[in-house]
Amino acid sequence: MSHKIEDLKACDRSQAGTRSLPQLKNTNPANGSLAELLPPLTDHEALVEANRCLFCFDAPCTHACPTHIDIPGFIKKIATDNILGSARTILEANLLGATCARVCPVQELCEGACVLGAEHKPIMIGRLQRYAMDHVYRRGIHIFQYAPSTGKRIAIIGSGPAGLSCAGELARLGHSVTVFEKRELTGGLSTYGIITLREPMEIALAEVEMVKRMGVEFRTGAELCSSLTLSELRMQSDAIFLGCGLGSTPQLRIPGEEHVVDGLAYIEQSKLDPSHLDVGQNVIVIGAGNTAIDCATIAKRLGARQVTIVYRRSDREMTAYEHEHEFAREEGIEFQFLTQPVRILAENGIVFGLACVQMALGESDSCGRRTSQPVPESEFIMPADQVVKAIGQEKPSLASLLGLATAPSGHIAVNGNFETNIPGLYAGGDAIRSSGACSTVMAVEDGKLAARAIHKQLTGLPVPEAL
Ligand SMILES: Cc1cc2nc3c(=O)[nH]c(=O)nc-3n(C[C@H](O)[C@H](O)[C@H](O)COP(=O)(O)OP(=O)(O)OC[C@H]3O[C@@H](n4cnc5c(N)ncnc54)[C@H](O)[C@@H]3O)c2cc1C
Ligand code: SF4
Repeated sequence: MSHKIEDLKACDRSQAGTRSLPQLKNTNPANGSLAELLPPLTDHEALVEANRCLFCFDAPCTHACPTHIDIPGFIKKIATDNILGSARTILEANLLGATCARVCPVQELCEGACVLGAEHKPIMIGRLQRYAMDHVYRRGIHIFQYAPSTGKRIAIIGSGPAGLSCAGELARLGHSVTVFEKRELTGGLSTYGIITLREPMEIALAEVEMVKRMGVEFRTGAELCSSLTLSELRMQSDAIFLGCGLGSTPQLRIPGEEHVVDGLAYIEQSKLDPSHLDVGQNVIVIGAGNTAIDCATIAKRLGARQVTIVYRRSDREMTAYEHEHEFAREEGIEFQFLTQPVRILAENGIVFGLACVQMALGESDSCGRRTSQPVPESEFIMPADQVVKAIGQEKPSLASLLGLATAPSGHIAVNGNFETNIPGLYAGGDAIRSSGACSTVMAVEDGKLAARAIHKQLTGLPVPEAL
């Protein structure tokens, strides 16, 4: 895998001096079946689609966007052939416009709110946004202006969407910013976790490159509470932002767990080098969220004959978006609801099945979701040659390592300015998202708002209207 990482790092670096997006070597036949699902709009398609927009006053699509992009504004600019202006409008509200154009659950957000959705087709806002963003990235155009230097230094932990958004916004405001990332590649889950069907890795890396070109320094292989200490960082910085995301996949705590494949590692391998991903013929994925659907999709597209998602509650309690659930069914993925795995069956290290019990729905839990209880004497066996677990992520370990106050859910607790209980230490993104679904666009918004709060705290000045 290491030579692959080197390729990626090289393509990341090479972008600075060229006028195109970094290109991954597509030497692997598996890349075809995992290639980005939606094609880009052609110039003609984008123009026709942009001209369908009603350019609503007080537009509901903008209200529904967590980063409040001026959606009719950027679409109008596409309609009048001002693609650069369109990209500027997007990036001013959302620095990761290229990622969000691809990964946002637009059906639940802007497109779900589009007034044309009631009787016609909603405007393809995500694909128009991608059209404008690809325009600037393909040409290597750098859009931003900067405020004069403030002389303040800020350390960012984590180069995922929250960290990148915070870093870029602070750089625009004139601060000197360093991002510390524990992994080899930057970009967080956009690089390692979101499946290529939705977002190829080179898009995430191109966005990191844009933030680098804004003057932000990146140090990879630098882990807070391992190679770096909080006191060191505090000596070097005027403020610190934690965009550390969540942890690894939790334990299932059932016998045979050692034979289970970790879903996040499965996705990561499918992005870095799918030819070395070991995919079974009869794959069971345990979980009910979007990660479970992503793992199941990879297995199906890389040749598994049968793929089944097993979940202990019913389809109504699934955390995956409705459109993802539908997509999975169209891919031929099966669902086995009200089923709780109790044991992995393996002989000589080779998995041959999953023992499960049937479940029955009970009372609602504190989130309003029905709980489930095992039905007595209902054990049965599902044949499988690979079992993948995709049951969410552990809460951020930095919370306890740094002695931070947490919400009852275990997420880092912050005040309205994204500041933790330690003054000068801010946090945002998945690490603080104790309610609602974690999403890239929410992490981007947290990073942006935290940057503005840090700026105000350090300079006493509000964020300028225009830079
Ligand atoms: C499989 C999967 C699929 C998803 N698909 C979608 C999707 O389609 N659409 C969508 O909107 N959202 C999706 N999400 C959610 C989305 O990826 C996250 O909400 C988003 O990435 C959160 O950004 P973040 O910056 O808070 O955290 P992350 O992206 O997790 O980034 C955190 C970064 O911090 C680094 N880090 C952690 N600890 C340290 C430390 N101690 N020192 C230094 N660095 C550290 C990590 O290595 C990482 O790079 C998906 C998530 C998963 C797991
Ligand atoms: S709601 Fe729909 S029609 Fe109205 S501005 Fe937004 S995208 Fe255009």
